[in-house]
Amino acid sequence: MVTAAYLSKYFKRITIIESDDVLSDTFNKSTPNEILDYRCHLESPTSIGRSGVSQIYQAHIIAREGFNILHKLFPHLKDKLINEYDIRPYSLKNEARIVINGILLNQNLTEDFESLGIDRFTLEIALRKELCLQYGKQIEWICNARAIQLIVNQSANIVQGVKYRLKHNVGSPSVDIYGNFIVDCTGRNTSSTKWLKESFNLIVPTVQLHFGTGYVTFIGERFKTGDPSLDSKSILGSNGNIPENNIGYSISPIRTIKTDDENSLGTLSTIAICCVNSEYPPNDSYENLLEWTEEYLDSEINSILKSTRVCSPLIPYRRAIDDRKYVELLGKKWPQNYILLGDAMCIFNPQFGQGITHACRHARELRKIFDEHCHKLEDISYIFNRRASAISEECWLASTTSDWKTPTLKLIKTDKNGKIQTYQQGSNFDTANGSKLRIPLIIKFLQWYNYWFSHCASKSGQLSTDFLHVVNQSCNPLILIKPITFLQVCYMALIHHFRLSKN
Ligand SMILES: Cc1cc2nc3c(=O)[nH]c(=O)nc-3n(C[C@H](O)[C@H](O)[C@H](O)COP(=O)(O)OP(=O)(O)OC[C@H]3O[C@@H](n4cnc5c(N)ncnc54)[C@H](O)[C@@H]3O)c2cc1C
Repeated sequence: MVTAAYLSKYFKRITIIESDDVLSDTFNKSTPNEILDYRCHLESPTSIGRSGVSQIYQAHIIAREGFNILHKLFPHLKDKLINEYDIRPYSLKNEARIVINGILLNQNLTEDFESLGIDRFTLEIALRKELCLQYGKQIEWICNARAIQLIVNQSANIVQGVKYRLKHNVGSPSVDIYGNFIVDCTGRNTSSTKWLKESFNLIVPTVQLHFGTGYVTFIGERFKTGDPSLDSKSILGSNGNIPENNIGYSISPIRTIKTDDENSLGTLSTIAICCVNSEYPPNDSYENLLEWTEEYLDSEINSILKSTRVCSPLIPYRRAIDDRKYVELLGKKWPQNYILLGDAMCIFNPQFGQGITHACRHARELRKIFDEHCHKLEDISYIFNRRASAISEECWLASTTSDWKTPTLKLIKTDKNGKIQTYQQGSNFDTANGSKLRIPLIIKFLQWYNYWFSHCASKSGQLSTDFLHVVNQSCNPLILIKPITFLQVCYMALIHHFRLSKN
């Protein structure tokens, strides 16, 4: 949707082919309360025909840069969300408690980060309405239609269109649709690599990291715990401390509610308990989940969970991996007029909350390329591949650095000749090829640096602020390694080293 809005300046007509019936009355005409009801009372989004985004009921935090992009494109969206949907704005400076690698970030931030706490299901519906309102004349939706193949001119190396099939007409013939530029936003289950192989015999080099992540998400009403320092925090998050503790959590407000109960905090929140290393939280009952979290999470979070009223089913998700397609390595072998964008190009460990903003930044980069007015249409896919992969690289390093610490990590690498190598941490060998799994040097350095940086950040409001800028994708990660910070981190590491060797 963001890509369509950005490209509306350069294309007279934009067609969105969408496999779900997202323009149905259920999505489009429901009141904000009905939408909340669907979110809270249905076992899964599939029940109302939204199976294309299987993670839509899971906890989603939207980084500040993602919201900035949405706000610039849809200037009325924020006010509508607050006034019509009772979405809860929050301040990271005053309302957050964030633990990174087991270390609490300093709470004296030198700057505030205002954001909106919203569930992904509501955001998507509100955004779609806004898109139709602002760009309805230019954008045509073909819903209930699954893209199944590319239409190409193989000898000219061009993608010319897409074949799609209407979902409810089983056995119906496919329909061809042609376009000047095709943006593949088919998300984490994209068939793009299969299509490229079929149409151009092109193999996209990929790296996948399987780190056994699992989520259990639910909506809850928080009540006072008796500890004002916890009750004043509406955003709480931890990514665990792999490999010692492989369990994390995230709590973020999604709506303000009216209530007469003076013990209620007056908000609904999405609450997710997540893991790596396949140490999955139970979702059969809240009692069992609480018993389980008692063992793995700190007492503060457990007291919040115990004083929370559960308002929805406990919904599990166990299929997330890191999966990167190195499209830029293919250079001009990549076909013209076709790109992968967002999750279709790269997916990350969801605990770091990067995916939506990463996709929005890809879309903004595409628009920038058009804005430069000096590129031929046929060159845009190569230019985009290069620039978008630089955005993906930032997010990739941020999320894979700690994933590499997972004791049962599995890595699957496909090179551009189609050779597949599989490695398992622990066995350390690709059994088929006899090659050893080596943690890249850069990752080893980043793991060391992150560890000592987190110690420094726990004592420094400025470093915690810099860190949050990077997490929110509003600054390049290089700010965390600027000379003064680098020296602080090295000093912290040296002090610890000498103290330990003295003892
Ligand atoms: C458990 C979990 C938690 C997450 N938490 C966060 C978070 O906190 N913050 C964050 O920013 N990100 C988070 N993410 C990632 C985020 O969900 C994705 O990065 C984001 O949705 C990517 O957007 P996209 O537009 O690329 O793809 P999607 O949102 O997946 O959209 C793809 C669309 O394409 C449609 N489609 C798919 N195939 C076809 C086809 N063949 N034909 C027609 N239509 C098709 C689908 O129906 C869907 O509408 C999380 C992911 C998971 C799994």
